[in-house]
Amino acid sequence: MNKIKLIYEGKAKKVYETDDPTLAIFEYKDSLTAFNAQKKDTMQGKGRLTNLISATFLKLLQDKGIPTHFVKLLDDNHQLVKRLKIIPLEVVVRNTSTGSLCKRLGVEEGLDLVPPLVEFYLKNDELGDPLVTEDHIRAFCFASKPQVEKMKELSLKVNDILSKYLYERGIKLVDFKLEFGTDEEGNIYVADEISPDTCRFWDLSSKERLDKDRFRKDLGNVLEAYEEIWHRISQPKAAIQKRYEAKLFIYLKEGVLDTQGKTVLSSLHSLNYPEVQDVRVGKYLKITLNSPSHQEAEFKVKKMCEDLLVNDLIEEYAFELEEI
Ligand code: ADP
Ligand code: MG
Repeated sequence: MNKIKLIYEGKAKKVYETDDPTLAIFEYKDSLTAFNAQKKDTMQGKGRLTNLISATFLKLLQDKGIPTHFVKLLDDNHQLVKRLKIIPLEVVVRNTSTGSLCKRLGVEEGLDLVPPLVEFYLKNDELGDPLVTEDHIRAFCFASKPQVEKMKELSLKVNDILSKYLYERGIKLVDFKLEFGTDEEGNIYVADEISPDTCRFWDLSSKERLDKDRFRKDLGNVLEAYEEIWHRISQPKAAIQKRYEAKLFIYLKEGVLDTQGKTVLSSLHSLNYPEVQDVRVGKYLKITLNSPSHQEAEFKVKKMCEDLLVNDLIEEYAFELEEI
């Protein structure tokens, strides 16, 4: 497949015609823009990352039954897509309040939005992509009612799939923007790109921004953040660590005095249980530990007790385990 003619050069990509009129080639550029292109920069290697990240997300969605324009990755900076007629709306899905939502409505940043918010913006750079209601869309025929319904339905499905995928890789999907297009038969597809340029990604634990907000807000390390996203999504999912609390009903051996749980904790550490974070002594011993599942946590606690038994610290044991 060859590039024949440049059809459009946008802020982030060049779009080329190919020898097949139903297909187009996207070339991802190294340029970064924000605030409707008032802020601009170039970062070498950024186009490769947005191309690879976007291809990964679009392929994932396609495998889960979402129609997308993605056909295949051609090389580091190019991908082949279905050539579509773009619906002039940007659909934004928000799981957490931030950005223009907070500015516009004066609400606090970081609020969980359950169910997620779906917003429509008119794709018009001259007007600064204004927010529009479904009535505006209907009144001015920006899209038909069934198209609006379909875009909403697909956007929420995309949100579910990507949120889960990213969560398993330690990333919170805060919000994102989608574009949609139609083919000759009027079928709707997710189009354009899904990347740190068009989504907000926060590290799950540190809340560190791993997206274009680093550029918007001059936080530095923009490319490193995009690299981090690429690194995490191109790896198999990490085992999610959950926290469990076990109440141990143990009877200490005669002569063992352990009012602060320190003897048991240091024994457990020396018995090679580094995941035990805390031991407390009261009516029972309370320990907390990290584990990917209840079954594994139960197995671990049982084994710990047996090791302590063998180690002559306790005489008998029973325990209750719950996720915290
Ligand atoms: P912009 O500066 O307008 O955001 P980009 O740099 O993102 O432009 O370039 C991509 C352009 O191609 C956008 O205008 C986008 O709407 C459009 N586009 C996205 N997907 C497709 C597609 N499958 N077919 C045709 N055009 C598309
Ligand atoms: Mg764009």
